[in-house]
Amino acid sequence: MNNHYELIAIGGGSGGLSVAQRAAAHGARVAVVEKAALGGTCVNAGCVPKKIMWYGAAVAGALRDSADYGFTIEQHGFDWGKLIRQREAYIQGIHSWYQTYLADNHVDEIRGTARFAGEHALDIDGQRYTADHIVISPGGRPLVPDVPGAELGITSDGFFALAGQPEEVAVIGSGYIAVELAGLLNALGSRVTLVLRKHQLLKEFEPMLRETLMEEMQESGVNIITNTSVAGVVEEKSGKLRLECSGGISCAGLDTVIWAIGRVPNTQELGLDAAGVETDGRGFVLTDAWQNTNVAGVYAIGDVTGAAALTPVAIAAGRRLADRLFGGIPESKLEYKNIPTVVFSHPPIGSIGVSEDEARAVHGDAVKVYQTRFTPMYHAFTRHKHITAMKLVCVGAEEKVVGCHIIGLGADEMLQGFAVAINMGATKRDFDSTIAIHPTSAEELVTMR
Ligand SMILES: Cc1cc2nc3c(=O)[nH]c(=O)nc-3n(C[C@H](O)[C@H](O)[C@H](O)COP(=O)(O)OP(=O)(O)OC[C@H]3O[C@@H](n4cnc5c(N)ncnc54)[C@H](O)[C@@H]3O)c2cc1C
Repeated sequence: MNNHYELIAIGGGSGGLSVAQRAAAHGARVAVVEKAALGGTCVNAGCVPKKIMWYGAAVAGALRDSADYGFTIEQHGFDWGKLIRQREAYIQGIHSWYQTYLADNHVDEIRGTARFAGEHALDIDGQRYTADHIVISPGGRPLVPDVPGAELGITSDGFFALAGQPEEVAVIGSGYIAVELAGLLNALGSRVTLVLRKHQLLKEFEPMLRETLMEEMQESGVNIITNTSVAGVVEEKSGKLRLECSGGISCAGLDTVIWAIGRVPNTQELGLDAAGVETDGRGFVLTDAWQNTNVAGVYAIGDVTGAAALTPVAIAAGRRLADRLFGGIPESKLEYKNIPTVVFSHPPIGSIGVSEDEARAVHGDAVKVYQTRFTPMYHAFTRHKHITAMKLVCVGAEEKVVGCHIIGLGADEMLQGFAVAINMGATKRDFDSTIAIHPTSAEELVTMR
């Protein structure tokens, strides 16, 4: 057996599979090491199962609104188990597809846990492998706080393993994963409390988005507790869980507690010291703009770098790296700016570029903002309504659009095309000169005054 490759990727997730496939397409001899299921977080415990649950929640919303559209529907409940079985069968299909995909793309799969044994050597479950280029792409895992009773809670991984629907659930965290899980559980009929350490959700997002989302979530029945930190989790005699929080706040009668307080990189078992690869204080691998680590021929991509933890970012970084190493494109690298992002909240958020505050901090009075807030036509006569709000942040005399922020029905599908325009340097005038599509919510973005 020849255990030497031109490139080995550690981790068969979004980043590792992409760099491997692209390198192999350029003719390199390539392997991916994976210790669990191929597809990584996105396919197995992230984007894919989350989006299926979100679609389930959207069906619940449509059923709720159906009477307002003239339907008489007798509801006979919701079978959580059935949705989970369907979801897992779908993911199983992706796993099967991966096997053919790897073979078709001439990528070897090595099963096991990789650990550095030198700068260009890996130990994988007792076997030694070497490579000219090693790409570190092991992703991350959810953080669990160091408080008494923390083990009584679950993380997003545990959420995807839930066999039954929680009736009374507390989600702790303010980031997009916390917001998404709280929103879809609420829409599917669980009673949800969201516990925030500070006063706001989604701290890195444009304030208009997070403030509107907070109102919308509260309006939809999510109980949001702000400015408190969880000191511990206690199991009561009844078997129910109770959160003990700072400020004398407690939250009892819970059957599920979900920690969504952040993610840490999977670097602890990689033996990075054996290769001399440097990390920051939290364990994220340090890279330059070309995904190089401090060790020649060793690279890092995806969540393990701590930069924009999103699947398409990991994929793009992997492909550009392979193009640089094997494709004869020495300048190929990912620009980490203008990354469009969607939060699958209720209602969803789409956002690209800088917030108004960030733009003003740099450009002062040269910033002009256009915004609107309205009830989308779908909700014109539904009793349960979600608002839509939009903001365009423009800079300079030419009013270059440097930020586009949308919350509301369809925002998730609306953003991608506007992201292309903004990446191309579109101005407000370009937006205005584009013919609106009527009647849509998106048309507001090209008709704002
Ligand atoms: C709940 C949730 C929802 C999300 N939703 C979205 C979304 O809607 N859109 C989006 O763009 N992103 C989303 N993300 C983020 C997205 O999943 C990640 O950004 C993406 O998966 C990162 O890819 P990666 O290749 O860096 O790591 P991963 O996909 O995590 O892959 C890493 C792989 O490496 C393996 N591994 C680790 N260590 C070793 C080792 N030593 N040896 C061998 N194998 C190893 C792991 O088993 C894993 O399979 C979500 C994440 C979560 C948790």
